[in-house]
Amino acid sequence: MRQPLVAGNWKMNGTRTAVADLIGGIKAGLGGVESAEVAVCPPFPYLAMVEDALQGTPIAWGAQNLCTEVSGAFTGEVSAAMLRDFGCRYVIVGHSERRQYYGEDNQIVARKEAVARQHHLVPILCVGETLAQREAGITEEVVADQLDAVIELSGVAAFASTVVAYEPVWAIGTGLTATPDQAQAVHAFIRGRIAEKDAAIAAGVRILYGGSMKPDNAAELLAQVDIDGGLIGGASLKAADFLGICAAA
Ligand code: PGA
Repeated sequence: MRQPLVAGNWKMNGTRTAVADLIGGIKAGLGGVESAEVAVCPPFPYLAMVEDALQGTPIAWGAQNLCTEVSGAFTGEVSAAMLRDFGCRYVIVGHSERRQYYGEDNQIVARKEAVARQHHLVPILCVGETLAQREAGITEEVVADQLDAVIELSGVAAFASTVVAYEPVWAIGTGLTATPDQAQAVHAFIRGRIAEKDAAIAAGVRILYGGSMKPDNAAELLAQVDIDGGLIGGASLKAADFLGICAAA
C-alpha cells in the first residue's frame, strides 16, 4: 500500500551539460520502472532546466532546502512559493549536512517541514544519528528527538503528508552502508514512534533509507518491511546506478 519512492539528492553537483546528460539518461532508461515513484533533487540553479526536461514524464523533482520566510528581504534565500513556481513536488529538509554545516537544529528543521507542507510541497524529512551517537547507544533517542520536534510543532498529522528519510550520518558518502537489519530496526522504531500518536498515519508514512545505497545493496535494503525507498546521494549522479536502484524498488 506504500508506493516506494526513490529520490536522488544531487547535493552541490552539476553543470548544465552534466545535468542534461543525467536527466537524458534517466528518462531514456526509466521505461521498466513502474512500481516505484522516482524523483530528483537538483541544486536550485538547475531547477528550471529539470522542470523543462521532465515535463510530461512520471519523474518528479524537488529542492534540497528552503527558507522558512515567505518572501522579502532575506538575501540569498529561496522560498517555498518559488519552489512551487518551478513545479517542485518535494523538498529535502533537515539533511545532516545542513544540520552539521549550517546550524540547522531540530526546531529550525521542524519549521522548514511545516512551511513546506503549508505550500503544498512534500517534505523529505531527514533524521539519523552520528557514529558517536550510535556507539554511545543513543540512536533511538536522537531520532526520537528529531521526530518529536515536528510532532510538537505541527502534530502527528504532519506525517500524513511528509516522507521520512532515515540517514545514519556515518553511512552518508562513506561507502559504509547500514546493514539491512540495522536499517530495519531504526525504520521500525520511527514507524512505532509515529504509531504511538496515530497508527493509521504510521502505517501510511513512507520511510526511505539513505546512506551509500547502491544498485548492489538496494534490493536487500528495500526488501525490509519498513523500508519504503531510498534517498540516494552519490549513486544518483550516474544514470545507470540510479536506474539500478529504481529497478530494485
Ligand atoms: P550517499 O548520500 O548516497 O552519497 O551516501 C545520501 C544522502 O546524503 O542523502
